[in-house]
Amino acid sequence: MPSTKIFLDEEELPKQWYCILPDLPKPLPPFIDPEIKAPGGGVAPKIFPKQILAQEFSQDRWIDIPEEVREVYKLWRPTPLFRAVRLERALKTPAKIYYKYEGVSPPGSHKPNTAVAQAYYNMKEGIQRLATETGAGQWGSALAFGCMLFGLKCTAYMVKVSYQQKPYRRIMMESYGAEVYASPSEHTETGRKILKEDPNNPGSLGIAISEAVEDALKHEDTNYGIGSVFNHVLLHQTVIGLEAKKQMEIAEDYPDVIYGCIGGGSSFSGIMWPFYYDKVSGKTQKDTRFVAVEPTACPSVTKGEYTYDHGDTARITPLVPMHTLGHDYVPPPIHAGGLRYHGIAPTISLLASKKQLETVAYNQVEVFDAAKLFIQTEGIIPAPEPAHAIKAAIDEALRCKKTGEEKTILFLLCGHGYFDMQAYSDYFSGKLLPYEYPKEKVEEAMRKLRKLYPWLDDVKKKFIE
Ligand SMILES: *Cc1c(COP(=O)(O)O)cnc(C)c1O
Repeated sequence: MPSTKIFLDEEELPKQWYCILPDLPKPLPPFIDPEIKAPGGGVAPKIFPKQILAQEFSQDRWIDIPEEVREVYKLWRPTPLFRAVRLERALKTPAKIYYKYEGVSPPGSHKPNTAVAQAYYNMKEGIQRLATETGAGQWGSALAFGCMLFGLKCTAYMVKVSYQQKPYRRIMMESYGAEVYASPSEHTETGRKILKEDPNNPGSLGIAISEAVEDALKHEDTNYGIGSVFNHVLLHQTVIGLEAKKQMEIAEDYPDVIYGCIGGGSSFSGIMWPFYYDKVSGKTQKDTRFVAVEPTACPSVTKGEYTYDHGDTARITPLVPMHTLGHDYVPPPIHAGGLRYHGIAPTISLLASKKQLETVAYNQVEVFDAAKLFIQTEGIIPAPEPAHAIKAAIDEALRCKKTGEEKTILFLLCGHGYFDMQAYSDYFSGKLLPYEYPKEKVEEAMRKLRKLYPWLDDVKKKFIE
């Protein structure tokens, strides 16, 4: 039986993050400030520390990880890489399946990789508090954890449905010392306005982002922390792929294909970027495929349009060049599968448009079917988000069974699902339904966006196409 887990010593923890910007097939389109209909960062300089802003636009390929941040990483890093021997056997596949597991961090996902770094840089620049949004609570708990370790306060605006249906993540944030509000809340103008129009508004990530950004803008000592989408966040996640490369080396293997789920795209980028660097720098001859997996209920890349849209519902953020379902997207209430953001990281959009990565979408029922098989062979209960990557990896392994190919498959298990038992309960009792977000709804949102900004196609033509 081949070895099923590969650990690295603490000294193997990466000393630098990898930044993909200088290696992209073309430069990233700029943000557009809708006030001036031209490139501009909008509110960004007012809500992020200088070091983070510098990283956001960095053309340096390698960025030093501060020693204080590495010391915190050592609480759970390097994370293990597993060979899914029992899953392979159950599938009777000749393929080899590996997964990198980020669920061993104290908050239970990959998110503290960036939360810790963000808290550190804000602390260094004298900030006292970070405000943020959180959906199911994974990002909020990661930032609360990071803030706690560097002595900052943390305020999390948590999407109301999750606040009501998933109290345990909220309690986790509070245990780390954060204050948590159900969003839309009475604490911001944005929240008050939305509640006045619709007191039963269930909330969305877009609304919660608007509230957190407003909070940061209105308080001198407060900045904003973001859990995905931005370049600096994706960059902090590359410790995942850098470690995975060393571990694949120990296994004397190299992936033919890499799968990861995408909400905003940070965990997937974290595992993909270092392998992409191998490819563009000629360090490997292998034509590794990178496949990002999303839910059919929130198909940002597979059904969305690559254009300019706001990152938030209240349109406080600048226009971001990305695939989008429209900034007022609200996930269908039957959707349990996580990954609920209307947009995606601009680097994912650019790489997808240049065919440097592929995207595929699955519905929540087939995703939980895959999670069940994974649980009953490998033992770890995955979060619903990475279960999308598991589904894709299993499908690939089954294709290999048909063709007899001995491919090496790597996927990212970016978090555990021990706070997602309600979703599993709904699945086991047959309450989950397959759901496809209708194309017409995307088209409607795009018409609305063009009505709002009649010049949208001009900037799109100029910067994106
Ligand atoms: C936040 C989160 C995601 C989605 O965000 P990405 O930026 O796409 O990684 C996926 N899985 C888990 C476990 C998460 O916490």
